[in-house]
Amino acid sequence: MKPVPLHALLRDIRACTICAPVLPHAPRPVLAASECARILIIGQAPGAKVHASGIPWSDASGARLRSWLGVDDAAFYDEEKFALVPMGFCFPGRGPSGDLPPRPECAARWHHDLLAQLRSVRLTLLIGHYALRFGLGAASGKTLTDTLLRWRDFGPQVIPLPHPSPRNIAWFKRNPWFEADVLPTLRERVAQALSAPAEDIKAG
Ligand code: SF4
Repeated sequence: MKPVPLHALLRDIRACTICAPVLPHAPRPVLAASECARILIIGQAPGAKVHASGIPWSDASGARLRSWLGVDDAAFYDEEKFALVPMGFCFPGRGPSGDLPPRPECAARWHHDLLAQLRSVRLTLLIGHYALRFGLGAASGKTLTDTLLRWRDFGPQVIPLPHPSPRNIAWFKRNPWFEADVLPTLRERVAQALSAPAEDIKAG
């Protein structure tokens, strides 16, 4: 079957209502993608703030993520640099212990077609449990920390990351190796991916 062009796919995603019967609000898919994006960030799902703004990662988690990557807002929101693709495009609502998991319908329906269109991606960042399972499959460890401790095994084009949410402050404190070991390499690989000449990307 002929692949759906990205602009048509994004139009269809933005009109998607598959989860309307189970979401606590009208669907509002939040993502950003272009064929030229060099770095793909697969996150979890929008939270309430991102749902309200319609802008991916426009919250405290996004601010921490940008500081991890060593990029400013202008670079982060440049669709020719970053594709921002959560596991669930719509805010799933809140449960007893925080936001609910991303809706599983989303990856099942959209991600194969969407990721196939992101042909310039040089680096993929998998953020949080759901993205790790999606991106690494059986190579994912028993726990998020098990997987993250083996971050070097998945490189150089894939880096698994914890979710930068303020709710994970205790994890960051318990795992100082993440900041000391992973972040310098992460920043280096982000800078390399962003500085790759366009002709290299087209040829790759
Ligand atoms: S979460 Fe994904 S599948 Fe569900 S309504 Fe939103 S865009 Fe559609």
